[in-house]
Amino acid sequence: MGSKDPQLGLVQLTDRSYGYLQEDKGLGWSNAGLIAGKKEALLIDTLFDLALTKKMLDAIAETVGKPIKRVVNTHHNGDHFWGNQLVADAEIIAHRMFRSEMMHMTPEVSQAMKTAPADTPAVALLQKALAPFDFSGIELTPPTLLFDSHLTLYIDDLPVELIHVGPAHTSTDVIVFFPEEKVLYAGDIVFRRCTPIGWEGTFHHWTVALDRIAQLGPETIVPGHGPVCGLEGATEMRAYLQYVYKEARVCFEREMTEKEAARRIDPGPYAEWTEPERIIFNVARAYREFRGEPHDKPADFFEMAEVMAEIRRAHSAREMQ
Ligand SMILES: [Zn+2]
Repeated sequence: MGSKDPQLGLVQLTDRSYGYLQEDKGLGWSNAGLIAGKKEALLIDTLFDLALTKKMLDAIAETVGKPIKRVVNTHHNGDHFWGNQLVADAEIIAHRMFRSEMMHMTPEVSQAMKTAPADTPAVALLQKALAPFDFSGIELTPPTLLFDSHLTLYIDDLPVELIHVGPAHTSTDVIVFFPEEKVLYAGDIVFRRCTPIGWEGTFHHWTVALDRIAQLGPETIVPGHGPVCGLEGATEMRAYLQYVYKEARVCFEREMTEKEAARRIDPGPYAEWTEPERIIFNVARAYREFRGEPHDKPADFFEMAEVMAEIRRAHSAREMQ
């Protein structure tokens, strides 16, 4: 439990459901979750590095004390699974494509990036984001049980539903719903008060994923990033995606470049969300769709980071005026 904010660290949400919440300080500061039965617990996601994951596991051992027999990884981004080796004795469950997708980014490359010469604003921005994390010693630990569209697990004879909703934020997106207590672990389908960033997927699938969440009727949502919320978290994410898609369409029709569009689109009601410069990822995704390109066309992260650095500079210049 964080000493200043009671909503950080391991937070009990209902009888058996917990969130493990990290302050959203940007890239990689993810949340995880836990459903604890009488004899065993199910962990939803590990964290970006070993030290952070160990801290979480220590808190769980101290407060909940049930052995973690199963783990679900909500998708293959490092901030949701690079701590897996610390729970390697558990059955690790994820979507079918996880094992082939997980090598897109490796801890070695991320660790090397931390000390590379910061010769462009993009590298400097990435280094600043990665500085708090230590990727040394991470051995990628893949899931041991894969599923395609839907899997039901039981804890104390109560079902826990795992539903594949990708490609939305990534190809392997899985949401975890515990109907008994109406708690939903959204992974990065929901970013709360934080501008979303997406990889392989489409606006359509992401919207359908958010509609699916609404249909399930959760009372509590643990987002992949940002504070715990209710259904309004999913509703606002949906509205943000719709807004950016619509604005990007106008820019596309005016033949603006992605970069121009990202700088031009007024963040409107979402200006207060953290990391507003991530809009470039969403614009690039929209443009990809307008051009009829495949949903998994790799994004050039450095190009994106350069635009992000530029937008961030423009924002802070405006704030100083
Ligand atoms: Zn994430």
